[in-house]
Amino acid sequence: MEECCGIFGIFAPGCDVSKLTTYALYALQHRGQESAGIALSNGQNICLRKGPGLVSELLPKFKELEAIPAVSAIGHVRYSTTGDARPENAQPLLISYRHGSMAVAHNGNLVNGEELRERLEKEGSIFQTTTDSELIAHLVARYGYSDLESSLKGVMPYLHGAYSFLFLTEDKLICMRDPYGIRPLSLGQWQGHHVLASESCAFDTIGAEFMRDVDPGEMIVIGEEGLKSIQVLPTHRKALCIFEFIYFARPDSNIGGANVHLVRKELGRRLARECPADADVVTGVPDSSMAAASGFAEESGLPYETGLIKNRYIGRTFIQPSQQVRDIGVQLKLNPVQKVVEGKRVVVVDDSIVRGTTSKRLVDMFFRAGAREVHLRISSPPVVSSCFYGIDTPTYEELIGYQRQVEEIRAKIGATTLGYLSQDGMLGAIGLPEDNFCVACFSGDYPI
Ligand code: SF4
Repeated sequence: MEECCGIFGIFAPGCDVSKLTTYALYALQHRGQESAGIALSNGQNICLRKGPGLVSELLPKFKELEAIPAVSAIGHVRYSTTGDARPENAQPLLISYRHGSMAVAHNGNLVNGEELRERLEKEGSIFQTTTDSELIAHLVARYGYSDLESSLKGVMPYLHGAYSFLFLTEDKLICMRDPYGIRPLSLGQWQGHHVLASESCAFDTIGAEFMRDVDPGEMIVIGEEGLKSIQVLPTHRKALCIFEFIYFARPDSNIGGANVHLVRKELGRRLARECPADADVVTGVPDSSMAAASGFAEESGLPYETGLIKNRYIGRTFIQPSQQVRDIGVQLKLNPVQKVVEGKRVVVVDDSIVRGTTSKRLVDMFFRAGAREVHLRISSPPVVSSCFYGIDTPTYEELIGYQRQVEEIRAKIGATTLGYLSQDGMLGAIGLPEDNFCVACFSGDYPI
């Protein structure tokens, strides 16, 4: 499962907004490593720098923006789904239309994107990318209102799916979030100026304070005159992606008032109660499962050990979609600590099993390193459905949890025992109302 994107926006006239945006993108790098970009406004024009690669690899380009006395900026880091890795899809997108210029960046996926695109193409639109950002730019350009805010309000009811959008014009920073709030978006304050980000860890990095999450269905317009909030669409049901807590978000981020690290630890505690193991030592798969593993160890009274080492110097771009390369990637990325696991009954805690190929390899690695037994514990329920809201998931048939019982999955993976946390256990660990979340990849119950 891979996140699609991270976004950041700042409106701070006279401040070093390009540097702040670069730092924020560093903090959001875990949400996408394929391309990055910054669009910056000096009040009259918008400049754009973007390209393939990590934020660190694009620094020379971003540094060019530092010479511009800026008012505001938006930034984007991107992970593309398979077959969608075209360089022109890097964001933000910059377009000129009859009312000026506009840069767009987004996180999420419109479920009616293809339908809207087809309609626009029939009416004469020509697309250069396959992104929802370009789609919305076309819709806005056609809408006919003289200001972007009115156009977006008119367009929003036609958009179905998961989205958090940022728009930058010469004099405004605008965000909007889908009425289910599937993809996260938070509002913060930096030295009296407003900032927006996919995750609060970006605020911490630049010294900004978290103010609140952007409400589902809300549009926020930030300009010289301050901040204006408009509830464009009503919210009938919130559906934040629960995978933010399980895997995507950084542990130091807070979402909906809950800290991601503490939630993961609680997932591990509940997992230990639901699926105990007769074992000698507990270890976690770095990085997202370390907190759950420590919670499991605490609850079960077993010692916690670092049993797997992650090579942090292998970029994601190296581990790209072909199955052959993915196989090598697992071995390059993770290696067990032989002296820790040799002759032991080891509990290995992981956050999820998707295809099962990585889990099988992990289990094999532990046995090869001398583990006597490998008890695999998963801090979420079996993934049984694909995601249509912007997360790259395999097809149903490729999901090991699709139409298989736990014992069948265990046999395929080769673990001594296998245990998953229940859906109730997972929701209980977060401590927020259950109907706040999308859990469709575990339940098949899609909010849209
Ligand atoms: Fe998140 Fe799964 Fe819902 Fe997609 S289907 S938004 S991955 S919970």
